[in-house]
Amino acid sequence: MLLTISTTHQPATDLGYLLFKHPDKCQAFDLSFGTAQVFYPEASDTRCTVALVLDINPVDLARGKAGSNRQTLAAYVSDRPYAASSFLSVAISQVFRTAMTGRCEHRQDLADTPIPLIAKIPVLPSRGREGFLRGLFEPLGYQVDVCRLALDEQFPDWGNSSYFDVELTHTIKLCDLLSHLHVMIPVLDDDKHYYVNEDEIQKLLRHGEGWLATHPLKAEITSRYLKRQRGLTRDALAQIAGEEVVAQIPQETPEEIIEKPISLNQQRMETVIAALKTSGAQKIVDLGCGEGKLLKLLLKEPTFSEILGMDVTYRSLESAQERVLDRLPTHQQGRLKLIQGSLTYRDARIAGYDAATVIEVIEHMDLNRLRAFERVLFEFAQPKLAIVTTPNIEYNVKFEQLPAGKLRHPDHRFEWTRSEFQNWAREICSNYKYGVEFGSIGEIDPKVGSPTQMAIFTLKME
Ligand code: SAH
Repeated sequence: MLLTISTTHQPATDLGYLLFKHPDKCQAFDLSFGTAQVFYPEASDTRCTVALVLDINPVDLARGKAGSNRQTLAAYVSDRPYAASSFLSVAISQVFRTAMTGRCEHRQDLADTPIPLIAKIPVLPSRGREGFLRGLFEPLGYQVDVCRLALDEQFPDWGNSSYFDVELTHTIKLCDLLSHLHVMIPVLDDDKHYYVNEDEIQKLLRHGEGWLATHPLKAEITSRYLKRQRGLTRDALAQIAGEEVVAQIPQETPEEIIEKPISLNQQRMETVIAALKTSGAQKIVDLGCGEGKLLKLLLKEPTFSEILGMDVTYRSLESAQERVLDRLPTHQQGRLKLIQGSLTYRDARIAGYDAATVIEVIEHMDLNRLRAFERVLFEFAQPKLAIVTTPNIEYNVKFEQLPAGKLRHPDHRFEWTRSEFQNWAREICSNYKYGVEFGSIGEIDPKVGSPTQMAIFTLKME
């Protein structure tokens, strides 16, 4: 694991005073989980760079000496020694402890001054979400340069990994940069290698002082920093906001933030439910159900007697379980089932339903997997009705927050124009026993159409 911090503030070697580490020395620090080395690969008057290299012994890690409780082979084959994680975050706070407090005996004026700084982290995990990474640092004023790393450079077809090579540039006090890194690295990794309790709230408040309370993603940062423990998160948010209770912990994705001004999500759900009700469907399967937003609304309608949610991501299902299933009264719980599965593999569990909904899912699949999905849904599962929604890329020009040419979510593999979507749907009808009608969701612009497009497929009776 590597972190470098450079400055061009002159004389640049003053960085050594701020960090309490002499630019001519190479120093090693023993930490409970490995060794941290600090040295300066460059140290001139015009530019100075400090490197923090963290070595974790992977075998100790696997055997539980360094905070791992995993007993399986996965414990030996893990990214922990290489990717920036809570280990690096702890190393920063131990090795640069005094610098983080903002104190500097010899150059207090410099410690109090914003100076040009560049932090580089070559392997930062963000589970494939560049938008989230930017969403963390850009509101703090950083220029964020990222390069998503390939899964394996020798096999480009395998696609991208969920790791990023990141460069953060800002004119900022060094202590603030260190605090931001200390908090954000485990937030991005969405994990911590140690037990998290109330003490962690105080740590977050300390390191988040002056910026966290006004950060647009403060709820998500707090929740992840506290390892998604609801009780701790609620207490921390209450303290940050200076309020007693924070009723709800929002979990918004960048896509939701972009689409928020028109509450598109709500309109989408309402339209889909209305179409399901009109069809008379009772048994519904929601494919790619995510955290269960549609499931929750379906449950409110007594006509939907049997509801199945399927998603490929275990984490989403856990969230659906917590947010929807566990909150149902016991006598209602039998109406909803959640299963893990992929839409690109034939699956008997999703057959026999009156209607299938595939809401904002196809754009998350690689184009070359869509054929497989079509067979799974229209040949094997064969619901009487299938509702598919997806963004209309033509409408993107209307989203003020979305830079030109960008898709709405970093995980989107494609977004289609209206004619691309309609051609795709019509081709399905020529290959399978379905007819299709199209609908628009959200405001309809005369030139670019509506933000979401919908296809309602109906099984043709023999
Ligand atoms: N339908 C939900 C979630 C949309 S986000 C909503 O409207 O709120 C897209 C979801 O599709 C994610 O939860 C993702 O895990 C899921 N997904 C993507 N590819 C999938 C696949 N091949 N099989 C099943 N689910 C998939």
